[in-house]
Amino acid sequence: MTLEEIEAFVASLGKEKYRARQIMKWIYQQGASSFEEMTNLSKEVRTVMAKEARIGNLEIVRTETSGDGTKKILFRLEDGLLIESVLIPGASHWTLCVSTQAGCRMGCAFCFTARSGFSRNLRPAEIVDQIVQAKFRTEEGPGINNLVLMGMGEPLDNYDNVLKAIAIINSDYGLSLSPRKITLSTCGLAPGIERLGRESAVNLAVSLNAPDDRRRNELMPINRKYPLAALIQACKSYPMPRRRRITFEYILIAGVNDSPADAKLLVKTFGGLRCKFNLIAFNEFPGCPFKAPDPRAIEAFQKVLVDHRFTAVLRQSRGKDILAACGQLSGRHRAETTGSEEVKKIGG
Ligand code: SF4
Repeated sequence: MTLEEIEAFVASLGKEKYRARQIMKWIYQQGASSFEEMTNLSKEVRTVMAKEARIGNLEIVRTETSGDGTKKILFRLEDGLLIESVLIPGASHWTLCVSTQAGCRMGCAFCFTARSGFSRNLRPAEIVDQIVQAKFRTEEGPGINNLVLMGMGEPLDNYDNVLKAIAIINSDYGLSLSPRKITLSTCGLAPGIERLGRESAVNLAVSLNAPDDRRRNELMPINRKYPLAALIQACKSYPMPRRRRITFEYILIAGVNDSPADAKLLVKTFGGLRCKFNLIAFNEFPGCPFKAPDPRAIEAFQKVLVDHRFTAVLRQSRGKDILAACGQLSGRHRAETTGSEEVKKIGG
């Protein structure tokens, strides 16, 4: 609930409106998981709140740590579905990558999440609570100062819930995280991008992955609905204060989209747009026909972009060994009861 909703709720119980700010501070700034802990509320208010309301707490099933320090947190939702968040280490802080849906219905050909199918949208509470749990129930929590909506799911396919979650995350009484510290990544739902530009101030990242419609249609079915021209038009409409740019994520797949000619096509298509490219080598996963590119191909691709004055950063994929890297999240876990290596499907 937003501050205004909690205010209306406590008022409906006959209590003072300012209690809402106290409650939010306890949950988001002190990590309280029950009303009983809220000692500046009178005993009577605590009792009424505990009777009429409930503080959701996602269950942390397990945390896995990669050789490179990346941590994947597996959460169980109240209906038993599993979702994942990823903590990514930086030089002096942590970035948290959260999920917005249980599964995904966008069907990108290179994505492990897509294989699990789609179960349902996450509610605002389930999006926000991934951050609350990471912040207060992991060692790294105090060091989190960047948030990316890039985990399982397509955020703009769950627009209203995601926007409400962002409002709570931004709120001074909520997690108090500035929109400049938040990046939303989309596969290219053009109308959603335009709406987001009008209704929020978060950074925009677009998962691009192909230099033309023919290949993008094959890799990302959403392109058949919103082809590159529509996507670029939506990106152009996205408000960008000074020094901000749209990030295009480009997963390089051997022999599919990684040639210097493909890079030249990007230069031609995206010249004139305030943007930068994040290049990511494809992360292979079991049963996937695509291969990781040769390091020399990555270098040659990057050189074309840089030579044409684009910023093109090669992102080291983190957490590959625990399937926490880009496109590898699945909400699956290994069957613990048998101890086998078989992957057991939980949701969707
Ligand atoms: S890449 Fe993103 S949008 Fe595409 S299927 Fe995977 S989670 Fe969904």
